[in-house]
Amino acid sequence: MPKAFMGKILLVDLTSGTTTDEVLPEAFYQQNLSGMGLAARILYDRIPAGADPLGPENMLAFVSGLLTNTGSLFTGRWMACGKSPVTGGWGDSNCGGYLSPALKRAGYDGIFVTGCAAQPVYLAVVNGSAEVKSADDLWGQETLATELVLKERHGRRAQVASIGPGGERLSLMAGIANDKGRMAARSGLGAVMGSKKLKAIVVDGKERVEVHNRDRMKALSQQVLGHLAKKVPLPPGSVTPLMGKAMAALPVANTMDGMLYVHMLRKWGTVSMNQASIEMGDSPIKNWSGTSRDFGPSRSASVTPDRIIAKEEKKYHCYSCPLGCGGICKNVGGFEETHKPEYETCLSLGGLLLNEDADTIFYLNEKLNRAGLDTISTGSTIAFAMECFEKGLLTTADTGGLELTWGNASAIRKLVDMIIAREGLGDMLADGSAVAAKKLGQGSQDFAMHAGGQDLPMHDSRLDPGHGLLFSADPTPGRHTTGCYLYYEMYQLWRSTKKVPKPSMFFTKNSKYAATPEKGAMAAACSQFTQLYNGAGLCMFGAFMGAHRLPLFDWLNAATGWQLTPDDYLAIGHRIQTTRQAFNVKHGIAPREVNATARALGQPPQSSGPNKGRSIPVDKLKSEYWRQLGWHPETGEPLPATMARLDIN
Ligand code: SF4
Repeated sequence: MPKAFMGKILLVDLTSGTTTDEVLPEAFYQQNLSGMGLAARILYDRIPAGADPLGPENMLAFVSGLLTNTGSLFTGRWMACGKSPVTGGWGDSNCGGYLSPALKRAGYDGIFVTGCAAQPVYLAVVNGSAEVKSADDLWGQETLATELVLKERHGRRAQVASIGPGGERLSLMAGIANDKGRMAARSGLGAVMGSKKLKAIVVDGKERVEVHNRDRMKALSQQVLGHLAKKVPLPPGSVTPLMGKAMAALPVANTMDGMLYVHMLRKWGTVSMNQASIEMGDSPIKNWSGTSRDFGPSRSASVTPDRIIAKEEKKYHCYSCPLGCGGICKNVGGFEETHKPEYETCLSLGGLLLNEDADTIFYLNEKLNRAGLDTISTGSTIAFAMECFEKGLLTTADTGGLELTWGNASAIRKLVDMIIAREGLGDMLADGSAVAAKKLGQGSQDFAMHAGGQDLPMHDSRLDPGHGLLFSADPTPGRHTTGCYLYYEMYQLWRSTKKVPKPSMFFTKNSKYAATPEKGAMAAACSQFTQLYNGAGLCMFGAFMGAHRLPLFDWLNAATGWQLTPDDYLAIGHRIQTTRQAFNVKHGIAPREVNATARALGQPPQSSGPNKGRSIPVDKLKSEYWRQLGWHPETGEPLPATMARLDIN
């Protein structure tokens, strides 16, 4: 009897409408875990080189985590994975909610979909049967409406992941929604689902997850709750801009413990950093060309943490999460009920556009979730369009009369409608800033803020060069969840293994920008740990507690009965990361040629603001990072010896 994992995946061919179970041996899980590792290995092996991401050969995976439903905490994340139509390489997107436990209740660690249906369909994997059903009545519906209909049809416990009009219209900014508006938003995987005419999946069942040592699992979870119960004095929300200003002013920094942020997440959610991030230089302003001076505390006041949670009716917890960083808000933005917007949304539709109107942010958050579009990429692409308008590359003749001036909230609302409908200028923008810049030309590529085609998130790489490195070097470029130096500090892996560097307690900020072997080792260890917890289905915010407080390694052993060391587990993370990179190489990506847009790397550096003068030596950093992972330091291709050692063919 498998322990922690179900030992089975579901293969679905939408061209023929058939479904097949496939059993995987325990050795597979011991090598790859589940979640990201399961998907990486299956997709690397089975998607043929050169497959069209929007064609039948692409395989779209919905995977649960190894630790989901085992009595561990923070382990309700699921992932969508496939070949990305945005980057042409490995694509993944990670989301919370309640879909992940339902996948395992349905009896599977993952569902893998190939082929393309002739007519719209949805997949129902409910109570032991898997069926491809007509979705004629659902096509054209928003994600929320789709979810409500399918829950009515298959029972309230059933969990639904669906696309909206964005995915149906193959927008490369399309994601996949579950739990009334949580989004696996990145990598354009909603368009992959749309290309397959797969409107939704519905999952439920009664399967139980066996666990090797349930008492130990419980005891470990109690330890985590004990850490979270300790009181940490939090500043009032109104003080957060000052915190950010102070951090920007100091020439030195200290290694960060993540517990303060974890407690801030519990009180406010990710919006806790809305204003502090602007002031410290973490949040890009005005399409990465501005600074905190352009969007200071008086302009960002509408999105202070306290004002945002004043709209919150109740906290929202993903499955098995003791923190509950989400929130359900009532009667705001024109909607009766809506998820609280996240930091990324508040800033991509706020400071990035110089938009001060919080109601517009609430409105667009819900609107985009229902349309099934990524708020980060949408904000980033609108910022690109606004800069084009400012520079005269777009005029009112192109915009359908919209005055696309910075901060014009009503124009932003209308442009979002046009993007969702792919009308007029909205059609050019619906695939993200990189595609739009390619179509527009005239030098606009210089301010399309992306990496490898993926619009950049709201963390300024000029503040944390670790972001600049991993925006450019991770197999999914342009993503803030892949790691940075700050995350490495918070993970505190050096307390669990001697094989990773321990950063000094205090350091000058200048030292962060050096391309040293130590920086490469920090980023490499961060990637390995990230992919390990993605295999387990763990939320990154739980990982911010630090590996010495969040017993990921012990949970894995107690759940499975394996007796692996932290180093063994980091080697699994290494295998997953290398498999993702090997996928890219197999599909013709040249990693050396993928970089974030020069502006995001401080090329040229800004002349004012918190990141004044900062420039990132990205090529050298990439070489150091690749060397640490056993990849070729010049090309970024995994070396044959590394592939053999990690048993990746
Ligand atoms: S910390 Fe937030 S995102 Fe993470 S599992 Fe909990 S509620 Fe979900």
